[in-house]
Amino acid sequence: LSRSPDLPISRSHESMLAYRHMFHAGNFADVFKHALLTRLLIALGKKGKPYCYLDTHAGIGRYDLSHPWAKKAREYENGIGRLWEREDIPEALAPYMTAVKAGNPHTDLRFYPGSPRIARRLVRPCDRIVLTELNKDDYAELKALFAGDRQVAVHLLDGYQGLKAFLPPPERRGLVLIDSSFDRAREFARIATALAEAHSRWASGTYAIWYPLMEPGAMRGFARDVKKTGIRKILRLELTIEPEDWALTIPGCGMLVVNPPWRFENKARPLLDWLWRALSVEGAGGVKIDWLTPE
Ligand code: SAM
Repeated sequence: LSRSPDLPISRSHESMLAYRHMFHAGNFADVFKHALLTRLLIALGKKGKPYCYLDTHAGIGRYDLSHPWAKKAREYENGIGRLWEREDIPEALAPYMTAVKAGNPHTDLRFYPGSPRIARRLVRPCDRIVLTELNKDDYAELKALFAGDRQVAVHLLDGYQGLKAFLPPPERRGLVLIDSSFDRAREFARIATALAEAHSRWASGTYAIWYPLMEPGAMRGFARDVKKTGIRKILRLELTIEPEDWALTIPGCGMLVVNPPWRFENKARPLLDWLWRALSVEGAGGVKIDWLTPE
């Protein structure tokens, strides 16, 4: 993931909503995020009671990789492109690959599913999906994609407002994905604040928060802010695939999971180790899994 004007992080200005995920769809960060998302939803679906999946930054739900924006930097080639023809996909990653393959009935990779579409494949008839998206055009596409689907509610809304509006869900079980485009300099701090607020409304929910790996100082600040919230049971999972040249690239990404499913770390470890071997650039980086705050 090289830094360019289309990148998720443009720290020089507050370019609210300049970000379009089409430029990045299917890149290594999407693979990491969506592979973990499938495991979280599968774990939730194992218990009988209905659950709610809230996706605060939903995007358009499905990405055409032949679109000129996707082809501009061809980020998907170093993400899903590296997995597409592999025949040794491990079991833990199989549901994710099945979700991607389902959108591509022919042999070529053309469409990449966003988080809403992946979730739609995994929820049971009793479960519910709530999606919020703030970009009007993206919202319109997302709304059209799920038109007539009674299990999916789509809202043109700030995802952080959505946390206030929709939590706690009546089901009292569920997952919240916070997948910000990080197009504001202060996004890390904003997320820590939003998490604290959401958790005060609904402490027993599972929260998955994706973030790019940035300079060590920024990451330490984020960890400190999240720890300060006092929230317990936060698992931190990180995948780095490129050398750490902070001025040029985003070498990796991470996910915080609040209230992860039982022994989620044991499931995630082999999955991320495999992904690292498949995606790393000349053996750079690695996988880190630890508890940011224990139970
Ligand atoms: N979650 C999607 C997926 O995995 O397929 C990708 C989401 S993309 C990284 C971030 C999305 O958040 C963009 O579509 C952007 O328009 C939207 N966005 C940015 N700020 C937002 C906000 N405050 N509330 C809701 N959506 C926002």
